[in-house]
Amino acid sequence: MAKNRPTAEEVAERRHTLAYIRLITSRRPIFFTFPAAMEQDFQRKRVASSLFYIRSGQWLLLLMFTLIVAIAWFNYRPLMAAHDYLLIKTIYAPVGALILFIIFGNRLPWVHRRFHAVMFPVSLIQIVLIQQHVFQATGNSYYEYATYNLMITLLLVALGLRFATPVLLGLYLLSGAVSLLSAMLFGLPVNPLSFFYYYVIFGTVILVLAAIAERQERFGFLQELLARLQGEELTRLNRTLEKIAHEDALTGIPNRRSFDETAEKEFERATRDRQPLSILLLDVDYFKRYNDTYGHAAGDKCLQLIARTLQEALMRPADMVARYGGEEFILLLPNTPPEGAAKVAERILRWVDAGQIPHETSSVAQHVTVSIGIYTLIPDKQQTLKGVVKQADEALYAAKGAGRHRYLALTPESTEFAAQPQ
Ligand code: GH3
Ligand code: MG
Ligand code: MG
Repeated sequence: MAKNRPTAEEVAERRHTLAYIRLITSRRPIFFTFPAAMEQDFQRKRVASSLFYIRSGQWLLLLMFTLIVAIAWFNYRPLMAAHDYLLIKTIYAPVGALILFIIFGNRLPWVHRRFHAVMFPVSLIQIVLIQQHVFQATGNSYYEYATYNLMITLLLVALGLRFATPVLLGLYLLSGAVSLLSAMLFGLPVNPLSFFYYYVIFGTVILVLAAIAERQERFGFLQELLARLQGEELTRLNRTLEKIAHEDALTGIPNRRSFDETAEKEFERATRDRQPLSILLLDVDYFKRYNDTYGHAAGDKCLQLIARTLQEALMRPADMVARYGGEEFILLLPNTPPEGAAKVAERILRWVDAGQIPHETSSVAQHVTVSIGIYTLIPDKQQTLKGVVKQADEALYAAKGAGRHRYLALTPESTEFAAQPQ
């Protein structure tokens, strides 16, 4: 129940989040980030989906890298073998190691925790190394081949590792700067036209695609959040409705509908198990006069007190009390023979008396009293719950007739009324 009712802060936060989602989805900004906590959730989700891509594509990635090396080896063997396998040592081996790190390194907890912080330098080194490989081969067909590899790598990094767009931009600018600087430093040639196509045009296209993908993901994230919040709200409303449908608004105890549902089940169980079932119908004595004397509000208060007393007077978990109507209450005592039901009725009479709720216009006492009609039976298929309640009502009517402030018990065997305590 407590869980059902969110705290004021939770309600305010939910309202705040909903307003934020509504604002963003109506304005649809080109680029935006979330408030801190939400952004953290979003980035966590991005890392998770990045890891999913890596894990599901790991063998394909390794196969691709193997093919790339194989193609280089078969087509450019003299180049690969030149300078004591310099290309293999400085580019293929380190790039291969980095790919392995991307694939398997994410299983290390510290990589997992700071995924983007670790993958940034890894990607940077990887891109710079492949860029070197482009610069070292300017002008020949190997150059074209190397450029394709660079494009593939960049595409995988940009779309697979899910860096935030500004981070990706930083990575790209930094890799270009480092590559150009080192080319200058080592006197490597740079083909301006190809560099322009690869670096400026292709790089821009990749960045724009990554930014669009991120934006779509952000909207998707908001939609999911909205659906979750609405789902929670719906569940909460359903619970509230369920509660309203089964609870009496004035006293907070189960209502008649709730009693009917439970009693129906217990009735069937008692029929099956051949166990006695007792129904107690209780009515406040001279309650009309009570209202006339003390007012309707005091009458309501009195009903609340009696409801609480009745709840407290029930000792077994399977026992149930419900407000049956106006100033009438009904009790269901499964597995209870006449003696047990009489004991409960006596306890109730005593406890209501002990409450000493003043009732100066009552003709039976100076305080509020009740009358109880009991019906106990081992039900069979011929009887109905309605019929049983009717019998209890008859017992109650007889208790009223016999002077009120008492109980009267009835069983199918004896239509005689049980002896009265008084
Ligand atoms: P008896 O001893 O024969 O039961 O007499 P009574 O006055 O209690 O019986 P009656 O059925 O004539 O009156 C029941 C009264 O209970 C009528 C109404 O004023 C009062 N009542 C019913 N429901 C409520 C309620 O929710 N709040 C209040 N304050 N009074 C109620
Ligand atoms: Mg009544
Ligand atoms: Mg009454």
